[in-house]
Amino acid sequence: MDTYRHILLAADFSTHGDCVADRAVDLSQRYQSELSVIHVVDNLPIADSIYGPVIPFSEDFTSELIETSKSRLAEFAEKFSIPADHCWLEIGSPKLEIIRIAEANNIDLIVVGSHGRHGLELLLGSTANSILHHAICDVLAVRLKED
Ligand code: AMP
Repeated sequence: MDTYRHILLAADFSTHGDCVADRAVDLSQRYQSELSVIHVVDNLPIADSIYGPVIPFSEDFTSELIETSKSRLAEFAEKFSIPADHCWLEIGSPKLEIIRIAEANNIDLIVVGSHGRHGLELLLGSTANSILHHAICDVLAVRLKED
């Protein structure tokens, strides 16, 4: 493979997210590839808990969270000139959803931050680490340092 045709940017809206997005945009311009963005709304009902289905939030709270995430994703996509039909808002486990969407859409490069909301003290955050281990395409973990 000599080029990337479709790049997927994983956006968690953390403070370093713009830096990760800049890198994804730059690569998509260099490779003349499509660029899509995914945000996953985490921590919604856990279906396989040992206690049976667990609903951590009320239905109202959940729909409010989804609506807020939709607008944040739309703003984020507009800022980086990513068309609306290249935006995915998914619900569930970020690592699983990012890998699922990447496979279903023939993504050939996933761009993530080395860290997001979960722990700059680790060498690689848990989402980034899991995607690196399980994705079938290339993965770029943009190295983020503490300010
Ligand atoms: P983490 O491993 O959780 O520290 O996050 C590392 C990177 O994974 C972030 O910089 C994002 O690129 C991506 N990521 C984490 N959580 C999400 C999420 N909920 N939706 C989309 N991307 C995410």
